[in-house]
Amino acid sequence: MTQAHGYAATSASTPLAPFTFDRREPGPQDVALDVLFCGVCHSDLHTARNEWGNTVYPAVPGHEIVGRVTAVGGLVSKFKVGDTVGVGCMVDSCQQCAPCTDGLEQYCDNGFTGTYNGHMFGNGPNTYGGYSSHMVVRESFVLHISHADADLAAVAPLLCAGITTYSPLRQWKVGPGHKVGIVGLGGLGHMGVKIAAAMGAHVVLFTTSEGKRADALRLGAKEVVVSKNAAEMAAHANSFDFILNTVAASHNLDAFMALLKLDGTMTLVGAPDSPHPSPNVFGLIMKRRRLAGSLIGGIRETQEMLDFCAQHGIVSDIERIRMDEVEAAYTRMLKSDVKYRFVVDMATL
Ligand code: NAP
Ligand code: ZN
Repeated sequence: MTQAHGYAATSASTPLAPFTFDRREPGPQDVALDVLFCGVCHSDLHTARNEWGNTVYPAVPGHEIVGRVTAVGGLVSKFKVGDTVGVGCMVDSCQQCAPCTDGLEQYCDNGFTGTYNGHMFGNGPNTYGGYSSHMVVRESFVLHISHADADLAAVAPLLCAGITTYSPLRQWKVGPGHKVGIVGLGGLGHMGVKIAAAMGAHVVLFTTSEGKRADALRLGAKEVVVSKNAAEMAAHANSFDFILNTVAASHNLDAFMALLKLDGTMTLVGAPDSPHPSPNVFGLIMKRRRLAGSLIGGIRETQEMLDFCAQHGIVSDIERIRMDEVEAAYTRMLKSDVKYRFVVDMATL
């Protein structure tokens, strides 16, 4: 065992605070890494505050991790000491079920092991995430990073916000000639805008924040709609091929379903703590519209996304923070005041 330092929540109502814990020694198939940067995902906040009702305390969040390899096990072939690597939302899965063998570890029939608040090896100890000094991760869940060293802080959010938006955009074959809506300009949403634009789609950003209009255009949207404005919404009725909804709170989905054209799809990736009001059935059946969901992305697809982003010069727009500023970051996140991802510089731990 080695001693790791991190930041943990010890209950739903206590602020995150320094926490010391053990990490396993790297086994034959493991990669050990020092954490350089860790993005702050809204899921970290949902978990720290037990908003999904499944948090095991103490909870060390963080699943947008960029690090440097410090040791590798004897059977590791893809990584060596000194490599820059990424770790996302998963650190293990059964590797045997149909989804796992198809590279869809996030849908593992036996339940993948989350990077935090997961159970190691089926029913083992709780996992601790990237708000920490170092990690030990099975090789098959470690990603290669090819972006320049100067970009590494801004690469960290690709490991969750990047893949969670890339995967449904690929699944629904977004590309040139498609009109694509992205709902919510936060961590996920701003990556969705950049990636959908790079895929060649005509991107329309929906926001509740009037002040985000100029940023959305700069990030790659061709049009911006303030979703509280009914007239602006009505101008886009029946016109979208695909809408990706990243909103972290319960809201009226019908307002967006009405914007899909025949056979259009809206995919939900936002995971609010309370349900959305049920969508109107006639809104679905009259135009054969579809409402779908999507969970992060598999490891193979995450590597594909990282390489796609490196080729297209895509990183996240970030505000770098110290580890002891994470509570202030959560407070701003709750006010939709994020531009557009907080990233913890782990040297400040
Ligand atoms: P975030 O940075 O806080 O962004 C969420 C955005 O949603 C806000 O910036 C805001 O954008 C909009 N919003 C917030 N409250 C709203 C409300 N009441 N009504 C309408 N819009 C509202 O969060 P994030 O990190 O992008 O995460 C978004 C959600 O995705 C979270 O629930 C997170 O847990 C979930 N998530 C899911 C997956 C997955 O695999 N499916 C992976 C990662 C995260 P505007 O100011 O532009 O309106
Ligand atoms: Zn996340």
